[in-house]
Amino acid sequence: MATYIPFINIFHTLYEELISFFGIRSIIEMSKSGDYSKLHTLDGILSIVSPLVPFLLLLEIVRALFYKRFKIEDYKVPFLIFVANRFISRFISILAVAWCIDHLLPIAIFKSSISWYWLIYGYIIWEFAHFIYHYLAHKVRLFWCLHSTHHAPEQMNLSVSYAHFFLEAPYADVIRTSICIIMGVSPPLLFLIMFIDGTWGAFIHAGENILKDGRLGFLNRVILTPSHHRVHHAKNPLYMDTNFCNLLNIWDRIFGTFQYEEKETPIEYGITRKINSKSFLDVYFGEITALGRDVAKAPGIKNKILYILKPPGWSHTGDHKTASIIKKSMNPGKKERENEKVLV
Ligand SMILES: [Zn+2]
Ligand SMILES: [Zn+2]
Repeated sequence: MATYIPFINIFHTLYEELISFFGIRSIIEMSKSGDYSKLHTLDGILSIVSPLVPFLLLLEIVRALFYKRFKIEDYKVPFLIFVANRFISRFISILAVAWCIDHLLPIAIFKSSISWYWLIYGYIIWEFAHFIYHYLAHKVRLFWCLHSTHHAPEQMNLSVSYAHFFLEAPYADVIRTSICIIMGVSPPLLFLIMFIDGTWGAFIHAGENILKDGRLGFLNRVILTPSHHRVHHAKNPLYMDTNFCNLLNIWDRIFGTFQYEEKETPIEYGITRKINSKSFLDVYFGEITALGRDVAKAPGIKNKILYILKPPGWSHTGDHKTASIIKKSMNPGKKERENEKVLV
């Protein structure tokens, strides 16, 4: 009898993991107790929205299987990364957010509450903080080492939203939480925004298998859609380092990094470094190894530090291959002309 116990434990652990992955614990508890009154609260509404992305991912895989477009390698690396990150990343992130709130709340410029106008204010600040984190993640080589794991997949699907280096979430959350708390976004409002942003941020990774045209009709002109985020994941020179926002793309428009998806330029997903995107180790540690090699061979301490702080592609020899240099050399002024064309 005792020999069955480990098996029972394995099934129980798997069951718990599935429940938590799909975010359906609250729904199961409500249906068991028959008490649905929680649905009238914000917590209850959030518990209904939580399973959205995991279930869409399941639907995406089922559809891909049905149309015989399913390729295990499109999902394998993001899945392995998800498993690797499952506990440690979340644990560090929660500690980092709690630390920032504790230390920065006393110096907040004012105190907001939860209402529709504070939500708009908080969201604009959050997007600004997200822009800062995301811009630095692309423009500082050290931070790119943390972020490149997310850009490595060469196909777009919902599993990509789970593909992050384990230290990226803590780094992103420290920047975003600090800016928001100092700017007066109260912790409950911040958690609500984090939830909306997390759900939308995952949804914009819906791939062509589930959403052929990611423009979402007129919304493409108002908010950041899956189409804009596909552009962000592209390695085409025109698309590199654009669309850093998540839901409201005001800061991309203000800072000149906004870019529409164009019919004449089909998206090529991935990063420009030669990479084996099927290898978990290369996707996860490849960029760190490359930086280590560059730092080791750089002459002098100043060059070594510059490799860490300058954008990816910077070289001590002066032969830079940064995104802005590649973009300029490909087609100067094209972006501006094309954007005008789309807006007409
Ligand atoms: Zn990015
Ligand atoms: Zn993404």
